[in-house]
Amino acid sequence: MEIIDIKPRGYCKGVVKAIRMAIKTRKENPETEISIIGAIVHNKFVVEALRRKNIKTISTANRSRFDALDDIDSGIVILSAHGTSQHVIEKAINKGLSVVDTICEDVKSTQELIQNALTNGQEVIYIGKNGHPESNAIIENFKSVYFVSNIEEINKLEVKTKYPFVTNQTTLSILEIQHLLKAILEKIPEANIANEICNATRIRQEAILKSSALDALIVVGDPSSNNTNMLASIASKHGIKNVIRIESIHDLDLNQLKTNWRVGVTSGASTPNYLTKQVVEYLKVVNLASPHPYPEIDYSIILD
Ligand code: SF4
Repeated sequence: MEIIDIKPRGYCKGVVKAIRMAIKTRKENPETEISIIGAIVHNKFVVEALRRKNIKTISTANRSRFDALDDIDSGIVILSAHGTSQHVIEKAINKGLSVVDTICEDVKSTQELIQNALTNGQEVIYIGKNGHPESNAIIENFKSVYFVSNIEEINKLEVKTKYPFVTNQTTLSILEIQHLLKAILEKIPEANIANEICNATRIRQEAILKSSALDALIVVGDPSSNNTNMLASIASKHGIKNVIRIESIHDLDLNQLKTNWRVGVTSGASTPNYLTKQVVEYLKVVNLASPHPYPEIDYSIILD
């Protein structure tokens, strides 16, 4: 097998910042209870590595961040890189919690663009993924925003003005967004577009589009990570026949690979580089006819 370690891949600046802030908060407050509402970034290994540092993640499965705050009575609450709505932040402060907000600068910049457009009297259309925390924060912070996630919703959209401001979630697919923005422009030709897919998402997706003649692409990342899902989606649209999703080397089914294949490996912006490197290094030396055991996962270096 020829193994192509696709670059760039893995941790983006926003994820690195969020993890560093969490670790720093623990170091500076060794005795304080520290909680995160929802995953700080979408990766279960990161969540577990933080738990081992006594930073617990409060589940937001089937409930809002606002409701999840009811589980925290004291200490410090860390807010994720995806951005958090103002009413959640206010509730935390009113409960007497200290708030550490790890919002990514790119997410913040999209929120500021929306705020400016609304202040200038423009209507705002926001394209995002339903239920994603980044979109949720936008919808909750800016109640008048028109939220759309697909062509059907764009077709049904009814805005009142000719020049609405249009922007989007930072981690969408660079292919799909073109399609969605085109649909908006066909409907509202003078819409004012600000494509806010972040640089980290864009260059990871472009690296796949630039890779040639891969028989398979292994995408390492969490199923809940939107930018990881978009890498897999871009790869399929790019014509790569075998797109294999794994969270770590332990999910890899070697029967899916062939010795004469050219296999790319990439990972989402929330996937620890250590996990991806483990896959690359293992595949570079494995004998598919007689594979050696998978390496163990060392949680003490997951966050590096
Ligand atoms: S994927 Fe982009 S927006 Fe999200 S944390 Fe990383 S740099 Fe920030």
